[in-house]
Amino acid sequence: LSQAPLSTVGTKTTCPYCGVGCGVRAAMQADGVIAVTGDELHPANKGRLCVKGSALGETVDLDGRLLHPKVRDADGALQRVSWDAALDKVAGGLRDIIDRHGPDSVALYVSGQLLTEDYYIANKLMKGYVGSANIDTNSRLCMSSAVAGHKRAFGEDLVPVSYEDLELADMVVLVGSNTAWCHPILFQRIAKAKENRPEMKLIVIDPRRTATCELADMHLPVKAGTDVWLFNGLMSFLAHRGARDNAFVDAHTSGLGEALAIADADCADPHEVARICKVDVNDLLAFYQLFADTEKVITGFSMGVNQSSAGTDKVNSIINCHLISGRIGKPGMGPFSITGQPNAMGGREVGGLANMLAAHMDLDNALHRDTVQTFWGSPHMADKPGLKAVDLFNAIEAGRIKAVWIMATNPMVSMPDANVVQRALSKCELVVASDIVEGTDTNAFAHVLLPALGWGEKDGTVTNSERRISRQRAFLTAPGEARPDWQIICDVAIRMGYRGFDFAGVHAVFDEHARLSSYRNGPPQIAGNSMRVFNLDGLTGMSKQQFDQLQPIQWPVTRDKHSGDVTGTARLFGNQRYAHADGKARFVATPPRGPAHLPDEEFPLTLNTGRVRDQWHTMTRTGKSARLADHVPESFIDMHPQDALRYGVREGSLARISSRWGAMVARVQHSGGIARGSVFVPIHWSNQTASDARVGALVNPVVDPLSGEPEFKHTPVSIEEFGVS
Ligand code: SF4
Repeated sequence: LSQAPLSTVGTKTTCPYCGVGCGVRAAMQADGVIAVTGDELHPANKGRLCVKGSALGETVDLDGRLLHPKVRDADGALQRVSWDAALDKVAGGLRDIIDRHGPDSVALYVSGQLLTEDYYIANKLMKGYVGSANIDTNSRLCMSSAVAGHKRAFGEDLVPVSYEDLELADMVVLVGSNTAWCHPILFQRIAKAKENRPEMKLIVIDPRRTATCELADMHLPVKAGTDVWLFNGLMSFLAHRGARDNAFVDAHTSGLGEALAIADADCADPHEVARICKVDVNDLLAFYQLFADTEKVITGFSMGVNQSSAGTDKVNSIINCHLISGRIGKPGMGPFSITGQPNAMGGREVGGLANMLAAHMDLDNALHRDTVQTFWGSPHMADKPGLKAVDLFNAIEAGRIKAVWIMATNPMVSMPDANVVQRALSKCELVVASDIVEGTDTNAFAHVLLPALGWGEKDGTVTNSERRISRQRAFLTAPGEARPDWQIICDVAIRMGYRGFDFAGVHAVFDEHARLSSYRNGPPQIAGNSMRVFNLDGLTGMSKQQFDQLQPIQWPVTRDKHSGDVTGTARLFGNQRYAHADGKARFVATPPRGPAHLPDEEFPLTLNTGRVRDQWHTMTRTGKSARLADHVPESFIDMHPQDALRYGVREGSLARISSRWGAMVARVQHSGGIARGSVFVPIHWSNQTASDARVGALVNPVVDPLSGEPEFKHTPVSIEEFGVS
């Protein structure tokens, strides 16, 4: 069995890893090697690729691939079956459980790795046909706090800026973001801009001294969990030191009084803020003054902000500073959520979270539910938000959810308190997994395995962190019996007796998604709010050929009524109209609060988790490349040498790190970038690579009350020597 090229000419497609969404050209050469180069014409990367992107060709092979549908037999062994048998098993199993226990007894858990069309169909099936919103996504774990923060401030989940604004800015502030490793091409663009304009400032706010700090003019090593104090302090400073943009605030915002009163109450004294944040007060004041003095400021933020039990407030405390200084809606300025996954943004467009509906509509809005149901002509609309990721797996463990279909993700490794996932999947009546590989920690619990197409084999769209929709295109034939995810979901839906899942191809799925956004933006009486921003009006009605030729474009996408010209949008809020009913942006009061669990005698250290440069998620793809493995060959526990001395562990030796929720084993290292009292462990390694290697097993499952995003950056742990190294 082998794969053949669909074309020997380089196919333009999009890198499947991080949210930068770089364009690549890929082709299988005569010797079977897959050549990958950066696409010079793609606006995200202009020909550049990072080490992960340039190694893509080394990660596409059939080793370990799931090539045929499989069903577990009475002895627990997975047996190859026909597609018909597998689809009947899934559709029949879901139908039976729904009939016995109701629509909320089944769930889908999907992924920011899915293409927008896959995501759209999965949400349509659950929310419009099964009649339950119990569909959540691993994007809950990375950017849902940004979504909630955007909705509070802007009335809709909107990222105001473009990558180009990073280059136009006179100061880039990166908060909780190791951009150099996690979004390398964005970092290269910042580095190039700084090389061209040495006066441009880069400020990094991060408890760790990461690779990103190497380029920084200032690193504020803020104490983990204190970001709101720091940005409330900045808001107070801007308000009282002449940096308030009164004209903008008066005309285009509301809520300043309450938000500023809260900021002033705890954070008006920079010395007190510096004490709480554990940063040098002179550095803090220098940062505040720089922000006040610099017109073009971008504040980029990522997981260090989002992954917190106060994540949404952290996001709003950042946005508040841009609103009070009027630094939004113009070139080179604005708050900027840097998305982790390749299609986290596309998932948001189609309502990929349990509390959202397609086309940026809300499940808890009756008018929005009616709008979507009318458009779909669907029989059973979910009437309330579903369970978010942590609650969803808790409900499986509690027996309230009896069937789960997991697509393109590995929650046994990536979820917090991952042992709950293990117990939940062990007792779940029906576990279905759609995946490209067979042997993952999660798939070991599947009753049915469905082979999905992977990168290079599937067709559709993804949307990157700057709202740019790009095509992923197939350049390889499908291996074995693998099928596109959207097609698999449609096949199950049709077997469950539902209409509305008969599509002529992936272009027809995209068209329905685009038409729904256009329908939503039609007469105000339909959706009740004519000011909503997300809009793909200009992309409706594309033929298959036009869809195949679609060039990268940023939404909202409009079409001129007279000329028919289609236009994307680089920057939002240029007209200073926001999506709240009164057209104004909202200041949000953000009373500071610390992490949910603090270190104590039993668990005296604070665990922070994150990525390494050359691996992606649970390594099912990047783990195949020896070149990528060379960078960091195994998991590690990074800690301060004095903490290592204190707790009796040695650099290079194995240590067991434990929390109230679980434990893992890895080797101790001292990178020099960790403050005393903290440890850092990467997220990538699983029990497939070594036993007790999942850091998710340790992470506390506390979530932000609004976004449901877990606190991956702050879990109290202890450490001890583990056996002989
Ligand atoms: Fe791929 Fe991200 Fe690297 Fe670009 S920066 S090549 S999208 S991993």
